[in-house]
Amino acid sequence: MSLDPGLVRKDFPILQRTMRGKPLVYLDTAASAQKPQAVIDAISHFYANDYANIHRGVYELSATATRLHEQARDKVRAFVGAAEAREIIFVRNATEAINLAAWSYGRSNVSEGDEVIVSALEHHADLVPWQQLCLEKGAQLKVIPVDDDGALDLDAYEALLSERTKLVACAQVSNAIGTHVPVRDIIRLAHDRGVPVLLDAAQSVPRFEVDVQELDCDFLAFSGHKLYGPTGIGVLYVRGEILDQMLPYQTGGGMIEQVTFEETTFARAPERFEAGTPDIAGAIGLGAAIDYLSELGMANVEAHEADLLHYGTALLEEIPEVRIIGTAKEKTGVVSFVVDGVHPHDVGTILDGEGVAIRAGHHCAQPLMNRFQVPATARASLGVYNDRSDLDRLADAIRMCLELFA
Ligand code: PLP
Repeated sequence: MSLDPGLVRKDFPILQRTMRGKPLVYLDTAASAQKPQAVIDAISHFYANDYANIHRGVYELSATATRLHEQARDKVRAFVGAAEAREIIFVRNATEAINLAAWSYGRSNVSEGDEVIVSALEHHADLVPWQQLCLEKGAQLKVIPVDDDGALDLDAYEALLSERTKLVACAQVSNAIGTHVPVRDIIRLAHDRGVPVLLDAAQSVPRFEVDVQELDCDFLAFSGHKLYGPTGIGVLYVRGEILDQMLPYQTGGGMIEQVTFEETTFARAPERFEAGTPDIAGAIGLGAAIDYLSELGMANVEAHEADLLHYGTALLEEIPEVRIIGTAKEKTGVVSFVVDGVHPHDVGTILDGEGVAIRAGHHCAQPLMNRFQVPATARASLGVYNDRSDLDRLADAIRMCLELFA
């Protein structure tokens, strides 16, 4: 059964409101997705009925909260196809997930003269931690170039891989221009040389099925809030064999085995990487978001977004003053564009006046903006609740914008 955006819309209370007197058209899901009632209910039900701190309590309420928290971990495990729940580490967001990997894996595996490879598409969250690690260690950051369509140059990538490469970190979907990266090839070529791969899945897990065992990736990072879940919760998947070699990221309560004044032994994963009281309600809310998406069916979500992307791209192509940035053959969920004679921020502001919420800026991908020689773009990004009429309203609002600036 395909996804019916009319029905899906009803699950999202915020989409019932108006914006500047007009029905809200929300086209900023790549920045953060709106929340279905099921997620809102799961969080408030937890606080109203089952709330207590986890792990350390001997009383029933704490045991229940612990069980719900670990159930959420298992939902994440199943959702991304991980073999074991201990491979799922709860963090704040994708940014923290990648920083954890850079700190706990990178610092003990990258040395002077080594190399780390990223792509030119990366969000700053998957660029700056590796750049800073390389600077600290005297290692070199290598960058896979993109062509004029925004697709990765795989020949150049293969040439970058060397015996000094210690890690490849790459987005599966570009948040700025929507390129769907052929990560299977990225991983295969890296693994042929024994190099582990981290996938930044912040924009991919909300859009199509991602299976860590099928992809054979070593790390996978994403944020709950882009997956229709709450803010404050994210995930780092780490392949089991690597997990046990990694040092703790933060130290304190909840991550220890034994502590004396002289020394500390650490708990095994995932607790080893989850110092302090975690975002318990956030994890439960994320579990509810995964239930919601699983019910819609990720194959339906993918087909729905592909249809809308095709429709929206064709609409924008009809406007001669609009230039789409990012025209790779494999794309998903995101249309970035510039409008002749109108700054992207002005486009965003004028569209807001029409009740159409898009993002304008560098999308935390400044090197990519430099590659395309634009300071910023306007970006419309899709979610499960969008339909073709949202894209009609987007195109109408852009035309209005052009009239204002004529
Ligand atoms: N990676 C990608 C591809 C993103 O799109 C984003 C957010 O836009 C991030 C990482 C960082 O996510 P967060 O701000 O939730 O940590």
